[in-house]
Amino acid sequence: MNEPPLFRRVAILGIGLIGSSLARVIRDRRLAAECVGHDASPAVRERVQELQLCDRVADTAEEAVAGADLVMLCVPVGANAEVAEAMAPGLSPGAIVTDVGSVKLAVIRDVGPLLPEAVHFVPGHPIAGTEHSGPDAGFADLFENRYAILTPPPGTDEQAVAKLRGLWEACGSQVEIMDAAHHDKVLAVTSHLPHLIAYTIVGTAFDLEASERQEVIRYSAGGFRDFTRIAGSDPVMWRDVFLNNREAVLEMLQRFSEDLMALQRAIRWGEGQTLEDLFRRTREIRRGVIEMRQAGTFDAREPGKAKPQDDTEA
Ligand code: NAP
Repeated sequence: MNEPPLFRRVAILGIGLIGSSLARVIRDRRLAAECVGHDASPAVRERVQELQLCDRVADTAEEAVAGADLVMLCVPVGANAEVAEAMAPGLSPGAIVTDVGSVKLAVIRDVGPLLPEAVHFVPGHPIAGTEHSGPDAGFADLFENRYAILTPPPGTDEQAVAKLRGLWEACGSQVEIMDAAHHDKVLAVTSHLPHLIAYTIVGTAFDLEASERQEVIRYSAGGFRDFTRIAGSDPVMWRDVFLNNREAVLEMLQRFSEDLMALQRAIRWGEGQTLEDLFRRTREIRRGVIEMRQAGTFDAREPGKAKPQDDTEA
C-alpha cells in the first residue's frame, strides 16, 4: 500500500526558483495531498497555472494558506513580514509555518511576532540554488544531496520540527538543526561574502574605460566568467540578504579585508612562499568540498552526469 502523503495541504507563497522547485518535488513525489500556490505577481500566477506546478493558485496569501497544515514562505527575505501579515488571518491552528530565506535571525525577528500562537514556526534554509529566478528556473532535483538547515527558536514544538525534517529529507536533502545566529555567520562567509566579491569585481571591471570593456568580455574565461555567473544572481533577493545580515557580513568583510591586505603585502614584497602556501591550502579545501559532494558544477546525484548548470547557493 502507498504511504499517505506527509502533508494534507501545503501552501507555497512566492513561486520563484525555490518555491517552484518545491512545488515540483512535492508534486512529483506526492509529498502532499494538495499544493496551493500564491505569488504577488499576476504573471507568475498565470505561469504557475500553465506549468501545472500547483493544484490550485490563490490570488491572496490569506486564501492560499486556508486549511494548509504546512505553509512555506519562498519570497525575498525583505518581503517576509508583508506576506506573514497578509496570510496570518487565514492560518489554521496547528499549522507549521516555515521559510527558505538565506538569513535566519531577521526572519525570526520579522515573522515570528506576526504569527498566531496556535501555529508552529520553524525557520529553514535549503543550501541549494542557482543564479536564475522565477517559476521556469526551478527543477525537482534542486535539493537532492544538498543540506537543508532548520533554525527552530528554543521551545519550538519538536513534532513540528520532525515533520518538516521529513519533508526536506523526502526532497533529497540532509537536514541540520542550527542556531539562527550561527547560521547567519556561517552563511555570511560561505555565501554572502562570495556574492559581494563577485558583484564588486564585475562592477569594477565594467567601470574600466569603454575601450577595455570588450576585452573584459572576450577574455572572461580566465576566471572572470565564474564571477559574472554569480554576479548575475537576483538583485532583489541579494539586496535583502545584505540588508538583513548586516552585522555578520560586515564582520566577515573586515576579516576578509585584512587577509586581502596581507596578500597585497606579499605580492608587493615578492613573498612567493606566502602566496604558494595559501594557494596549496585552498586547493586542499577545494578537494574536501568535492569529496563532500558539494562541488560547484551541478550534479547533485552523480559526478560525471552534470547538467549544464552551476549552482549558486544562497
Ligand atoms: P525568486 O525566483 O525571485 O522568487 C521569489 C518570488 O517571490 C517571485 O516570484 C516574487 O514575485 C515573489 N514575491 C515577492 N514579493 C512577494 C510578496 N510580497 N508576496 C508574494 N510573492 C512575492 O527568488 P528565489 O531565488 O526563489 O528566492 C526566494 C527565497 O529563497 C529568498 O528568501 C532567498 O533568500 C531564498 N533562497 C534562495 C536561493 C537561491 O539560490 N536563489 C537559495 C536558497 C534560499 P516578483 O518577481 O513579482 O517580485
